[in-house]
Order: sequence, then C-alpha cells, then structure tokens
Amino acid sequence: MPETISIHPAVDGGVKPGSQDFAGGTLTCHCKDRPVTVRIGAQVAHNHACGCTKCWKPDGATFSVIAVVPRDKVQVTANGDKLKIVDEKAAIQRHACSGCGVHMFGRIENKAHPFYGLDFVHTELSKDKGWAAPEFAAFVSSIIESGTPPAKMSAIRARLRNLGLEPYDCLSPPLMDAIATHVAKASGKLAS
Ligand SMILES: [Zn+2]
Ligand SMILES: [Zn+2]
Repeated sequence: MPETISIHPAVDGGVKPGSQDFAGGTLTCHCKDRPVTVRIGAQVAHNHACGCTKCWKPDGATFSVIAVVPRDKVQVTANGDKLKIVDEKAAIQRHACSGCGVHMFGRIENKAHPFYGLDFVHTELSKDKGWAAPEFAAFVSSIIESGTPPAKMSAIRARLRNLGLEPYDCLSPPLMDAIATHVAKASGKLAS
C-alpha cells in the first residue's frame, strides 16, 4: 500500500469550496488563556498551500495554508499585547502570538514591495465557514528545506494535483506576473 501523503489537515480530506457571499470572520490563536483574536472584514484572495520554511503551519503539516486580504480589513480585537514580530527584517513581518506561536497576520511595511497593502492570514484559525478555498501550491520544492526527502517529491506533487492544487516551485503564474509587472513599472520598462 502506498504511504499516505499528508499535505495539511484543511485539505487532506479534499478541498472544500468557499462561499461567494462570505464577507469575513474572526481568527483566534491556539491559547486556552487570553487568546489573541483578529477580525478579518473581507473574503480572502489567492488562498494557497505554501511549502516555504517561514509560514506558520500546524504540528505535523507539510505545508501551510495562507491567503491575502487588504491590510485595512485586518483588525486585532483581543489580547494584541501578546503579539510579537517574528523577524523585523523579513519582507513579510509575521505577527505571532508569544503564547502559542501561531502567526496571526503577516504584514509588509515596505511601500515599494509588489504586495504592499495585503496582509497574509491563515483562515484555519477561524471557525467561520465560507473562506475562499486554496487554489494552488506555492514553493513546493522548499519543503525539502524542512526535511522532506527529495525522493518523495513526485508523490507529493501528484497528490497536490489530485487535490486540484497545481504545484509551483515559486508562486502561481498570475502572482509571478504581478510581481514582474510591478518591477517593470518601477524601472520604466512598462508604462505605469
Ligand atoms: Zn496564542
Ligand atoms: Zn510560505
């Protein structure tokens, strides 16, 4: 029997579609005592599985699941004093709970960054139903950096395709195009 491949608990049983009219919900960290809560006032976009070593993932998961939402739709609603930035120098400043380690939101402060204005959030921290479903898998090869044996990669990519999550070793083509367009406009190669 082939070994079961676990991607992430939110997708291992199949990707559940989101709701068209869903307009946000509340994220809660894993602390039993004084949990941090963050209100998201909109549906998320570009939800995806991410294999990078920086995104928070639950214990035992191979990938994180992460989406973006406009930063003005992200509001800390309880126990924000527990939040600490994981790495101030990183392009995405991940605001993590110092109690449980969960990342509540990732924020870009560099106004020249292609994704400035978008925060990164994990919808699995919410009990609300209807969040947009993961659409693809990014930074797939990077799971090797977390200890996945390279020999397992073809089975993992096959499992991702089977779930409808096309695997990319960077971001998806629309997001890579958005980054390149931003760079070309900044350099004057494309009219802005
Ligand atoms: Zn916590
Ligand atoms: Zn990531």
